[in-house]
Amino acid sequence: MTAPPLTRLASVATDLASRQCGTCTFCCHLPDIEALDKPANTVCRHCVEEKGCTIYDSRPSLCRDFLCLWRSCEEFGPEWQPQQAGMMLYRQGPQTTVLVDPTRPDALSHEPYATRLRALAADAERTGGYVIAFVGDTVTKVNAVP
Ligand code: SF4
Ligand code: SF4
Repeated sequence: MTAPPLTRLASVATDLASRQCGTCTFCCHLPDIEALDKPANTVCRHCVEEKGCTIYDSRPSLCRDFLCLWRSCEEFGPEWQPQQAGMMLYRQGPQTTVLVDPTRPDALSHEPYATRLRALAADAERTGGYVIAFVGDTVTKVNAVP
């Protein structure tokens, strides 16, 4: 059995403009950022906990241009706020990447996320895409079916 499309499982669309990063600094912690010489799951040297970027006005363009899926896509409802979900998602070409907060390694198995991620994988597969999850050093392809 295939999981229903994400659109049918998605929360009611919310106004993207009202979504702000606030105290979330996941994208300054979780990704590997070569241009900043920052390995995955380490804090960027310019990031101050609860405050954010100390070089905000001169931050690199890759930081300026980045928004996670919760900030950029209405399909992802309020439950996908990264600190709440324990993970951040973004897309590059056919790949949807899920970076899990290493202090909450079980986040992928919690609901509604486990079901939604399978639906997301099913949606992606229909157009040749896929969903990859990173939890610390462990990398897994999210399956469309349980
Ligand atoms: S992960 Fe998303 S919400 Fe969190 S700081 Fe980055 S863009 Fe903002
Ligand atoms: S330069 Fe600033 S915005 Fe970019 S990763 Fe570092 S703290 Fe975050």
